[in-house]
Amino acid sequence: MLVVMKPNATQAEIEAVVEKIRALGLTPHPIPGAERVAIGITGNKGAVDPEPFTTMSGVADALRVSQPFKLVSREVKGEDSVIDVGGVPLGGPAITVMAGPCSVESREQLLEAAHAVKRAGARFLRGGAFKPRTSPYEFQGLGEEGLKLLALAREETGLKVVTEVMDVESLPMVADYADVLQIGARNMQNYSLLKQLGTIRKPILLKRGPAATIKEWLMAAEYVVSRGNYQVALCERGIRTFETMTRNTLDLNAVPILKSLTHLPVIVDPSHGIGLRAHVPAMARAGVAAGADGIIVEVHPRPEKALSDGQQSLTPPEFEELMRQVRVIAGAVGRSI
Ligand code: PEP
Ligand code: MN
Repeated sequence: MLVVMKPNATQAEIEAVVEKIRALGLTPHPIPGAERVAIGITGNKGAVDPEPFTTMSGVADALRVSQPFKLVSREVKGEDSVIDVGGVPLGGPAITVMAGPCSVESREQLLEAAHAVKRAGARFLRGGAFKPRTSPYEFQGLGEEGLKLLALAREETGLKVVTEVMDVESLPMVADYADVLQIGARNMQNYSLLKQLGTIRKPILLKRGPAATIKEWLMAAEYVVSRGNYQVALCERGIRTFETMTRNTLDLNAVPILKSLTHLPVIVDPSHGIGLRAHVPAMARAGVAAGADGIIVEVHPRPEKALSDGQQSLTPPEFEELMRQVRVIAGAVGRSI
């Protein structure tokens, strides 16, 4: 259930509702909005009786939330969520651009990529230090050494760092270095990891599982948010279909569907979505045209030498050209970069 406060409700009136929810053995989630505060209720087995709330002072209404995902739903919060990543917005009216190599490989490679994407206009640097590879014989990432290089690149460029955390054990270490924690597609339903992410105060980029429905994905986000970490963005990165011409099938249907169902920022990953360098720009443009709040793109100074995902990585000049195009598309849909 959702208790909607009146626009002029006082802090004391909000507190009284929060206390009443706690007294019923349930969990309150105050959600500030542009006009009024709403307080989500979780922890209830059946329907919560609205009566005790509607009669309280400062309360405008008590509504049932019809979706199984509650706190991430538009019903609970009408406005788009914008995550403040140390002064840089993730989501909101301006298109968020994240770019960088698939894997952190060396100091030279990372710094070259970081300076290039920064010059082109990205504000977030992506790069994996812990890599979930399909083959155990392939490059697994530099681990903490890679995280240190990401921190160095942040220091040199001012870019915010997005990097993947693969398990509960390494979470404290990765969270120490990262500005945004990426949860990889393979881990979207790692519930012990999701629960742990709910207890920390770091923005999360939750990628869609390759076989996950939109509802399952939103429920995964709900795991994090319901435990108190409200800073979650979703990333569509392609799903597995019968098609073999492309690495995955970038499900751009998900973008407008998500924008209608949830207030969380929606990012599109065209690199993993199609998996072919020549066609990444088209899908990045399409993602922005479809209403995504941002894109995450793999960029490598020498893709042919990349230790992972070279076949889908743009060169710096290709990325610069993509940024030029994305600016035009963004303008056409009422956004900026
Ligand atoms: C990545 O971003 O390099 C990655 C491994 O992504 P995904 O989890 O979407 O496969
Ligand atoms: Mn990759």
